[in-house]
Amino acid sequence: MSKYLSIKYKNLKPYVPGEQPQNMEYNKLNTNESPFPPSPLAQRMAREAAGDLQLYSDPDCRQLCSVASDYWGIEKDQVLFFNGSDETINYACMAFCDKIHPMVFPDITYGFYEVVAGVNSVPFKKIPLKEDFTIDPEDYIGLNTPIFIANPNAPTGISLPLKDIERIIAGNPDSAVIIDEAYVDFGGESALPLINKYDNLLVIQTFSKSRSLAGGRLGLAFGSREITADINAIKFSVSPYAINRMTMGAAIGAITDDEYFKANCQKIIKTRESSVKRLRELGFEVLPSSANFVFARNPKMGGRELYEGLKERGVLVRYFDKDRLRDFLRISIGSEAQMEDLFAKLKELLGE
Ligand SMILES: *Cc1c(COP(=O)(O)O)cnc(C)c1O
Repeated sequence: MSKYLSIKYKNLKPYVPGEQPQNMEYNKLNTNESPFPPSPLAQRMAREAAGDLQLYSDPDCRQLCSVASDYWGIEKDQVLFFNGSDETINYACMAFCDKIHPMVFPDITYGFYEVVAGVNSVPFKKIPLKEDFTIDPEDYIGLNTPIFIANPNAPTGISLPLKDIERIIAGNPDSAVIIDEAYVDFGGESALPLINKYDNLLVIQTFSKSRSLAGGRLGLAFGSREITADINAIKFSVSPYAINRMTMGAAIGAITDDEYFKANCQKIIKTRESSVKRLRELGFEVLPSSANFVFARNPKMGGRELYEGLKERGVLVRYFDKDRLRDFLRISIGSEAQMEDLFAKLKELLGE
């Protein structure tokens, strides 16, 4: 740390992303990326857009908004785009949270929420998940301070039914409720249909997981005209050209090639279901997942030992050195071949 750093960042604890080795030595099942490349149309449109990179991108993302509004059946001013949904989460915190409106989220959830509270010097409160790792909606009624819920949750993969999400939104009419749907396309229920009914709802999605564009960086936010306008004002004060031309092209291609998207989601769901079965056969307890990953523990071996054993054998998964999570591994669902490799190594490790 230099002596010049502002006092407000002296205690900053930055987010620690999952490992991103820059070679293909590993079977990479640690950051919930898609095992499939972007749609051929998305790739072509990104390449075409590269020819115009001397020009700034459209800060209003008009073409993308228009395609999105047709696809999701919403008004053009009910959707916003960001450089990844992590950025969206930060803007939502900047927009709605302050000293007297602390950020609220479950004790076990996406680690980035706490980091964002820290960088914005906003207090936060964590609400414990139940013993079975589910959210109790009762805990979130009448708080009237901004609530951040990942649905399906991470790293558990467990989804909350839409009726419970709606109760939380309706139960906090004086504050924004942010539903982070990074994994919704793998079996969750989206709160998107509720944006016209509740003006305090912000739904966040990403193209990083189900649409194979993690490296393109594209996040979205859906909400009422007013709530999106609030966030847009902040976005235009920080990074008006956040979405680059190639990513915009790729995103339009990814939305347009809906067949490819749906087929890939179905493949992941199918592989997830067979993987859960195989994990259980190996003695794992697996939480019910609606995501493109599973969260599982084995009574024979702790999380760290499994993580390290797999890494030595060339398979990267995610391990969290935290209370209640230490026994678990979070395993992204890869291609069938990637999962075959995982199971071969797991059997070796567990001496099956
Ligand atoms: C992966 C993930 C994100 C971040 O996605 P990006 O769009 O790549 O920034 C946000 N929320 C949750 C819960 C995630 O798992």
